Amino acid sequence: MIVDYHMHLRASDESIEHTVEAVERFVEQASERGIDEIGFTEHIYYFEQTRTLWTMRYHLERCVYDIEPYVDAVVEAKRRDYPVKLGIEVDYEPGREEETAEALAPYPWDYVLGSIHFLAGLGIDAEPSLVDSVGPEQAWRRYYGALGQAARSGLFDSLAHPDLVKFHGAEIDWDWDELAGSLEGVAIEVSSAGLHKPHGKLYPSPAFLSAARKRGLPITLASDAHVPQNVGRDLDRAIEHAQSAGYETVTLFNRREARQEPLG
Ligand SMILES: [Zn+2]
Ligand SMILES: [Zn+2]
Repeated sequence: MIVDYHMHLRASDESIEHTVEAVERFVEQASERGIDEIGFTEHIYYFEQTRTLWTMRYHLERCVYDIEPYVDAVVEAKRRDYPVKLGIEVDYEPGREEETAEALAPYPWDYVLGSIHFLAGLGIDAEPSLVDSVGPEQAWRRYYGALGQAARSGLFDSLAHPDLVKFHGAEIDWDWDELAGSLEGVAIEVSSAGLHKPHGKLYPSPAFLSAARKRGLPITLASDAHVPQNVGRDLDRAIEHAQSAGYETVTLFNRREARQEPLG
């Protein structure tokens, strides 16, 4: 089984298009690339219903869309028996767990994907970056501390691009076993998106993924496509990466219940 559980429901110019027709374009591309099931995970900060969660201009500027057409488009596509799942990519805001849970509560998610793109107003994969402002060691410590908190918050089924902190600067040695232990209870994403970033690497690193395997963390697969043409892009490399770390199964979600299926 091959899934792609991270993508943003957009038109081919990356503008927001939350319609069943847009879903169909992603489904078509997925089927051409041999993907069995796809999950949509639009960024939560695009939705005006979540406005009270945000303080940064980056989020507030984008927070102008109604969430209902997004949910309706994916739910309708499911009703038409397309192999799609309703997810959402949620920026973890430490200390705002209750408000985040309230914002998510009204909708029939198949899974909720947690991610950390900013900490204390500094970018993990954006400028000005946390790494530049406090140095790699301190940035990694803060990022992985927050990731562990995200895992324990109970808000998330899976964590997106879990070593995104390597985006800026050199990779450093880490206690991968301790980190993997702090993430028990959630799945992590094996993502091909980093191949197309300046660092050119899969998420997470081989050492991280092997530690996750030993700790029994389940995985999903992800392209992080922002346009239909990128659905499933380089997932073969993500699958190989997972298999080299010893993974034999991949996680499927349905209404926030996880099950394992043979990988590949
Ligand atoms: Zn992300
Ligand atoms: Zn994403």
